[in-house]
Amino acid sequence: MITVKAPAKINLTLDVIGKREDGYHEVEMVMTTIDLADRIDVALTDQSGIAVDCTAAYVPTDARNLAYQAAALMKEAYGIRQGIAIRIDKRIPVAAGLGGGSSDAAAVLRALDALLGLNVSREELAALGARIGSDVPFFVYGGTAVARGRGERIEPVPAPPPCWVVLAKPPLAVSTADVYRALRLDAIDQPPTTAAMVDALNRQDFAAVCRSLGNMLEAVTFSLHPEVRKLKERMQAFGAEGVLMSGSGPTVFALTQQLSRARRITNALRGFCRDVYLVRLLGDERQRA
Ligand code: ATP
Repeated sequence: MITVKAPAKINLTLDVIGKREDGYHEVEMVMTTIDLADRIDVALTDQSGIAVDCTAAYVPTDARNLAYQAAALMKEAYGIRQGIAIRIDKRIPVAAGLGGGSSDAAAVLRALDALLGLNVSREELAALGARIGSDVPFFVYGGTAVARGRGERIEPVPAPPPCWVVLAKPPLAVSTADVYRALRLDAIDQPPTTAAMVDALNRQDFAAVCRSLGNMLEAVTFSLHPEVRKLKERMQAFGAEGVLMSGSGPTVFALTQQLSRARRITNALRGFCRDVYLVRLLGDERQRA
């Protein structure tokens, strides 16, 4: 058996570039992993099938589970005869914009590769992951990266300078598909920020990182759920250096380099929101061990 961590991500940017002929949106986004992770046990069994068990009651454990799909793809691609048992200790809020399901899938790809000594390249694992979901390749790499295409083309970039992340998730689930459906490309009224973010990361300029935060899905989710906008405004008022909604939401995060300020924001938010987390960025591979 092997136990692996499946970390959550936050979006530092999310630019929607256009709509593709295959129905997906063309995006450009910077994502970075954070120290909030599911724990996943993966074991080989004598049975031939795949069994998934998850501590979160409302997450499906059948073929709809992205971790299940990852195991099924590995079985097919590498002719794995044994059964696979997966246990997910769910700590990442579900349907929150933090990529929990995609991260679980990537963790299972990596775990099976290690467990069976397959030595599959990262590129090949990421290509397999792209068949499960657009965010899975990012999690195969981890760290900090620009994701392009529908999210599956990954270019690692330097991690942000060390900082604290306060996450707050309002008590509602947001479907990414619904948000993209409601997005009107001609109504986007903010400029893309990915290039500026990559520049800030290359220069390790924390103030510029905060200035370059941007998410074109924010306005859509705010219009569907006005309480998410209120939460963002509240976090700004509490003195965070940078505040943004992650993915399609509803989780909003604040960045600060001062632990005392991070604690103050966390405590202040607890009065309004049950799900509040204070974590570090994992940032890059060197910090992940
Ligand atoms: P996305 O942006 O892809 O919707 P998210 O981070 O907002 O992702 P997830 O936590 O990945 O949200 O869950 C989205 C949905 O995927 C859930 O409603 C759940 O039913 C389904 N799902 C499938 N597998 C998993 C998994 N391993 N963990 C969590 N949810 C899963």
